[in-house]
Amino acid sequence: MDLGLRDRVVVVTGASSGVGLATARMLLAEGAHVAACARDTERLRRVLAEAQQGVDGAGRVLTVGGDVTDAASMQTLVDSAVAELGGVDAVVCNAGRSLMATIDDTTDDQVRDEMELKLFGVLNVVRAAQPHLAKSDVGSMVAVNAILARQPEPRLAITSAARAALLNLTRTLSHSLGADGIRINSVLLGLIDTGQWTRRFEDAETELSYEEWTGELAADRGVVLGRLGTADEVAWPIVSLLSPLSGYTTGACIDVGGGVSRYV
Ligand code: NDP
Repeated sequence: MDLGLRDRVVVVTGASSGVGLATARMLLAEGAHVAACARDTERLRRVLAEAQQGVDGAGRVLTVGGDVTDAASMQTLVDSAVAELGGVDAVVCNAGRSLMATIDDTTDDQVRDEMELKLFGVLNVVRAAQPHLAKSDVGSMVAVNAILARQPEPRLAITSAARAALLNLTRTLSHSLGADGIRINSVLLGLIDTGQWTRRFEDAETELSYEEWTGELAADRGVVLGRLGTADEVAWPIVSLLSPLSGYTTGACIDVGGGVSRYV
């Protein structure tokens, strides 16, 4: 199936690992051009070059180092995409991490950092990209969010609150940018097998294998499908929401959680 993304320019934040990298790879395979960002520029360049080489007929790749909480860096990312790739048709706001801590274990500075990452990590990119998305005939954005936005967890107290704030913000953005024909949707993730979990496994210093440890984790969290999801299983809903074939979908959320959500 042709998703209508060939020669479109897509900005992907946090594209050097996990969900962002899988999304960039899938977009390149569709013939889209990817403007990628992450803080570790060397890793970003290396993995995107590998991703591009691994795909027949891949689109072009632009890598720009930068932190999503820094508005000037995100302006540079978008300006570079326009100058070198010819515009911006879509944005995937993916960069981030979670803070595994209860309210009692969280400092005020951590609360501020978490809110800043979740909100400005999206706002900075959207503000920079908005004029270009408005010029595109297929302007769209996907925010990578978490099921925590609707189903808070005490062990991820501030991340849950920040995720809820982001979900609320993206809903408002879908109204304000919709007048320019720009669509904004969210994917809400459960437990996805990426760098976030391999780092926690290393910190856990357990005698279990990674497969045993993630299996226990999925059972403990009540994941209906009994396993963690893969980054490709998240990349697909992101890419399909970006596709003009989803042209009448905006302000929507898709759960990608293997059945971990309890809400209706
Ligand atoms: P990974 O750790 O595998 O990848 C995170 C990516 O984001 C890396 O490319 C990292 O590169 C980049 N990044 C992190 N912070 C910043 C920043 N401040 N500015 C720019 N780039 C940044 O994580 P995932 O793929 O799992 O995470 C993707 C998104 O999904 C995140 O927003 C995460 O919170 C969310 N999510 C993930 C879940 C999971 O179970 N995996 C569950 C729920 C939500 P670098 O470090 O070089 O900057």
